[in-house]
Amino acid sequence: MKLSHRITHLTPSGSDGWEVFYKARRMKAEGQPVTELTIGEHDIRTAAPILDAMHAAAKSGHTGYAMVPGTDALRDAVADRIAARTAVPTTRDNILITPGGQAALFAAHHAVLDQGDRALYIDPYYATYPGTIRGVGGDPVAVPARADTGFQPKAADIAANAEGAKSLLINTPNNPTGAVYARDTLDGIAQVCIDHDITLISDEVYDTQVWDGTHISPRALPGMADRTLVVGSMSKSHAMTGSRVGWVCGPAEAISHMINLATHTTYGVPGYIQDAALFALNQGPVLEDEVAAPFRRRRAVTEALLSGQNTVKASPTQGAMYAMLDIRSTGMTGNDFANALLDAHLIATMPGESFGQAGAGHVRVAMTIDDDSYATAMRTLIDFAAMQAT
Ligand code: PLP
Repeated sequence: MKLSHRITHLTPSGSDGWEVFYKARRMKAEGQPVTELTIGEHDIRTAAPILDAMHAAAKSGHTGYAMVPGTDALRDAVADRIAARTAVPTTRDNILITPGGQAALFAAHHAVLDQGDRALYIDPYYATYPGTIRGVGGDPVAVPARADTGFQPKAADIAANAEGAKSLLINTPNNPTGAVYARDTLDGIAQVCIDHDITLISDEVYDTQVWDGTHISPRALPGMADRTLVVGSMSKSHAMTGSRVGWVCGPAEAISHMINLATHTTYGVPGYIQDAALFALNQGPVLEDEVAAPFRRRRAVTEALLSGQNTVKASPTQGAMYAMLDIRSTGMTGNDFANALLDAHLIATMPGESFGQAGAGHVRVAMTIDDDSYATAMRTLIDFAAMQAT
């Protein structure tokens, strides 16, 4: 079959830093007891009452085509949650329900990019970002956020790349770095967007996982509500990764076009999934805190273990379910370190390089296994790093 350039070039060929991950999966399949600190997936499952709500909705007949933009009730609930958290007036007309945050990222870029348009994103980055931009015909351009600034992107670096750019994609709390963008970082980003007439796409799927500082949605900053598309999701906040339910929030006109896109792509999200999401949102922050609690505990374990030594340094670990560990004092690349740790101790981490060049010399640890196993694995990693450094 003759395939399109667009699909065959979605992801670059050759080494992309994910080899360690696939190697770990192979070793596991062969029966080796690999400890996986790789993927951003909770070690708990979706709470039983949410599944009960899903079951009840399906049994009551909510199994036909659902409203393409999302049910009124869920759009209202998402709008109310956003308005309550940001004080920006938000109604259902500002909300499109999507199959997860990933589909929201795609819709948002589709809404603002034409073929060949320059689209900025911050490096280190969540793995799908450049491919999502390419998928809508955009030209992805990485802007580095540096370890020595706690991975807070600098407005000057963005401005230096802003000429002709149509969009800027940011993510706070950040995967993979754990950074939560400070007010002055976001003010700087907002100013560049205003100065260069750039649409900001703000990925806030980790907005309930903040351990230090405060999550600020840039849509709430002066002059930004009309030029920001916010991506949200139930995946991380409610341990509903497999349910595939998220949203885009933005100006009503942009949302109306994205609804048209949904009509011609996903045709919406199953009604019983939306009802379960509505039930979950209606539980309020109590459930969100419960889902976030294991990561808060393990983040404290990470900080405590790192404080007793000098070899491994963490970037801020202010939010999200990851710790980005700086292992440059070992003299190894993130890739070499992750490979060697896997071979020596059967502990799988993600090389920082798999999240972009700015992640070099780091490994990302997902805090997604039980507390005791996590502490043991972290101790082993730290001891291993100390051995390499000597
Ligand atoms: N954005 C970030 C930063 C992520 O880490 C993820 C998933 O890991 C997503 C978006 C997509 O999440 P989902 O499509 O499950 O909502």
